[in-house]
Amino acid sequence: MRMLDPERKTSVRNLQLYLWPEEAEELREMLPFEQCPVCGGEIVKKKVEKLLRGGVNTAQITVQAEVCLHCGERLYSKETISRFEQIRAKLARQEVDEFRPLGQSFQVV
Ligand SMILES: [Zn+2]
Repeated sequence: MRMLDPERKTSVRNLQLYLWPEEAEELREMLPFEQCPVCGGEIVKKKVEKLLRGGVNTAQITVQAEVCLHCGERLYSKETISRFEQIRAKLARQEVDEFRPLGQSFQVV
């Protein structure tokens, strides 16, 4: 199952529910081409960099995504989305021992 980034705005999340209901999953797997659910553009598999925030902490991760060549919309697998959620929860709980430090973050005041 492919999902839009849940962080994006609600209107498109609703669009996702409309275009890609669970029942249509098998049918979609049989289609030779995938189209962007936002603009209908062509989608390619790509490695992308994603920034995740949890509490005051931020982590950077590189994951496989399907990216629209036209509008840049990213689609992630359900597994990747739950991985994001796990990392965000760890960041929020300060469980960062397994992550490699990557510079510092600052707030401009
Ligand atoms: Zn698109």
